[in-house]
Amino acid sequence: MSEPRTVLVTGGNRGIGRTIAEEFLAQGDTVAVTSRNGDAPEGALAVSADVTDAESLDRAFSEIEEKLGPVEVVVANAGINRDNLLMRMKDDEFEDVVDTNLTGTFRTVKRAITSMIRAKKGRIVLISSVSGLYGVPGQSNYSASKAGLVGLARSITRELGSRGITANVVAPGFIRTDMTDELPEKQQKEYLATIPAKRFAEPDEVAKVVRWVSSDEASYISGAVIPVDGGLGMGH
Ligand code: NDP
Repeated sequence: MSEPRTVLVTGGNRGIGRTIAEEFLAQGDTVAVTSRNGDAPEGALAVSADVTDAESLDRAFSEIEEKLGPVEVVVANAGINRDNLLMRMKDDEFEDVVDTNLTGTFRTVKRAITSMIRAKKGRIVLISSVSGLYGVPGQSNYSASKAGLVGLARSITRELGSRGITANVVAPGFIRTDMTDELPEKQQKEYLATIPAKRFAEPDEVAKVVRWVSSDEASYISGAVIPVDGGLGMGH
């Protein structure tokens, strides 16, 4: 088990992010979670921040540093979807999704590496999706934003690998959260039929992988894409 560290999970007030925060709390880490409404699981520091706003993120990091110390593990989990077929997709549907999922992650990790470089260690985990590399109809905006995270993690790895910092991507398939509950039943059934495991996953199945890839045991893994998708993407 790793030494206790300060962990930040963006979008940690609900869904997968909340479960990730709980997983780190359970192993004794000090955890801060950000979201727009500022809620958090018990035991974590709740801080309001909008990932589309660099200033609000900077304020959140400053508050976390002041109360808990420098962030040693950052999990960039905050994300949205605005599904539509490409021919009907409006510019703002594309831009909002990219601004939150990809540029929001860029803003988060850019702020996080300041103290990681100083400490000569750090763990960066980006929550992508099977949709990023496999593609899903109606999700060209979401898939593009999630595929972008792979390039981001790999460039970070090349820039900062020598500084004791790793950057990895975890790519979940269909996980039971608000995001998937909103899908029409017919669509849920169609997705289930394509998943080799023939079931959706629970959020803790993602959270355990995120915790592990942030641990000392995973010190030589960087720039990797780790699928947690019941075989849907077949390693993509
Ligand atoms: P939820 O919709 O349940 O939660 C999304 C989280 O992101 C919330 O905490 C939300 O907080 C936060 N968030 C959204 N926009 C912003 C913003 N602008 N600033 C700050 N926080 C924001 O989603 P899931 O838990 O299902 O998804 C979590 C991550 O996992 C996402 O990146 C998603 O793309 C990815 N994923 C999910 C899958 C699934 O099947 N559920 C599959 C593959 C990937 P708030 O709205 O309160 O600000």
